[in-house]
Amino acid sequence: MGEVAPPVTDLALDQLDFSNRFTRHLPADPDERVVPRQVHGACFSRVRPASVSAPELVAHSREVAELLGLDAETVASRDFVEVFSGNRLPAGSDPFAMCYGGHQFGNWAGQLGDGRATALGEIRTPSGEYQTLQLKGAGLTPYSRGADGLAVLRSSVREFLCSEAMHHLGVPTTRALSLVATGDKVVRDVLYDGNPAPELGAIVCRVAPSFTRFGNFQIFASRGETQMLRQLVEFTIRNDFSHLVAGADADTAGIDTAGIDTAITDAHITRWFADVVARTARMVVEWMRVGFVHGVMNTDNMSILGLTIDYGPYGWLDDFDPGWTPNTTDAAHRRYRYGQQPQIAHWNLAQLGSAVATLVDDLAPLQEALDDFVGLYEAGSTRMMADKLGLRTVGPDDQQMIADLLGVLTLVETDMTIFFRRLADLTAERSDPIAAVHDAFYLPEQLTENERGQIDGWLRRYQDRVRAEGTSDEERRAAMNAVNPKYVLRNYLAQLAIDRAESGDASMVNELLEVLRRPYDDQPEHEPWAERRPDWARSRVGCSMLSCSS
Ligand code: AMP
Ligand code: MG
Repeated sequence: MGEVAPPVTDLALDQLDFSNRFTRHLPADPDERVVPRQVHGACFSRVRPASVSAPELVAHSREVAELLGLDAETVASRDFVEVFSGNRLPAGSDPFAMCYGGHQFGNWAGQLGDGRATALGEIRTPSGEYQTLQLKGAGLTPYSRGADGLAVLRSSVREFLCSEAMHHLGVPTTRALSLVATGDKVVRDVLYDGNPAPELGAIVCRVAPSFTRFGNFQIFASRGETQMLRQLVEFTIRNDFSHLVAGADADTAGIDTAGIDTAITDAHITRWFADVVARTARMVVEWMRVGFVHGVMNTDNMSILGLTIDYGPYGWLDDFDPGWTPNTTDAAHRRYRYGQQPQIAHWNLAQLGSAVATLVDDLAPLQEALDDFVGLYEAGSTRMMADKLGLRTVGPDDQQMIADLLGVLTLVETDMTIFFRRLADLTAERSDPIAAVHDAFYLPEQLTENERGQIDGWLRRYQDRVRAEGTSDEERRAAMNAVNPKYVLRNYLAQLAIDRAESGDASMVNELLEVLRRPYDDQPEHEPWAERRPDWARSRVGCSMLSCSS
């Protein structure tokens, strides 16, 4: 279909400053057929979002709108719904679906690609940053394989709310501008158990500086398309990691560096890979801090920028259980359980490393960068845990205290989020420390003497340690409450919001969004949302069990 050039009008969304570096500088699929097929020698295929019948805006993020320079009037306009449902292409847009592959659950799966995501293009924001706008659920692409290219309201509410919640928690993530209900029905078999039913269709507009994944590089390496691999690596370094090319001091923000032909050397590639390793380590440390379980850490779901990407069957720890995964597809092996996320990130980085290894002469520096993951993660994790405990310094005894805490938290069902907030309230002198964290226990009446003793023992050690450091209770409380969220998107809360949205009432989606904008603040009017998961939600579908690709 060639480059699409919609006409410029006086509509606000036609004033978006499309830069489209990805599609301008990288090889496109010459084949225009939107049928499932293998795409060779191309980074992307040009596609058009499907039309939908009756789009309505369910929710939007005002921070993302602001980031993109869209005012309230534009967001409220009919054109906003038309554009972010895919019904109208804004001027300058050059829509595309990316080609990528990936390891799924540890096995190479070949070509995957954007099967239901269509990027409208990349824009320059008023502050000069680049952001790509991508519609998830916008219809068929050459990468749709056997599926329909669509998304349902249920999974779209989850993606929309969680991306914004993660951002406000301070976790690197793709963002979500809008959630639109399409007015069309989509058939889904929620648990893959032979009970397909029509559901409401929806589209989320995701926003990120780049949607490139580890799998974008892997696909070329797997096919021996070394020239394509080199082109994509060079493009990514020049554009998304321009600080590595231009020198740390140069202000390259907002400069289109794709056309600049600075030679990319092996040293650049190694530094780039080391940067990806560091970002990925940081991202996982942040997941562990807030109790987030991604659920599908396949290499096609790993962002090259170290952003949390692809919110599918993710979940939040209620009771602290390192063995927990929300993903029913992974129930047998629990490969992507909470406690294994660091090791999986490392394994995924090794796959990326072996994909780019074909480009460099000397593998040793790449290997070293990969090996650095362990130290980076461990240092980050120790610092993060010390922060959660309100400790300014970390000595060898503290490492042991942290390790012992993880044992204490798994002793009985203990709500992770509530535990750390209550621990912040525990004063150094309190004589019955276990009473301070009582709310965090799911079955307090079932605590045995022995369990009480172990928990109490740890809390007393902690009080001793806090006294030794000499930080005032007030100071420590403030520091801890700035890193231990009070509000997270508990699985059952998302499900309640979905239940209501499916019956036509989006108010809880919007209320949750509002509360999750300030996850560290006490919000007395929303106290119930900071409480333990209710018992009915323990094993309800959607609250503790989810499947892939809904
Ligand atoms: P996910 O598990 O959501 O990360 O998806 C894995 C792969 O399946 C990606 O290539 C997706 O684009 C593709 N996919 C998932 N759901 C659909 C769908 N409804 N239609 C087309 N492709 C899909
Ligand atoms: Mg994916």
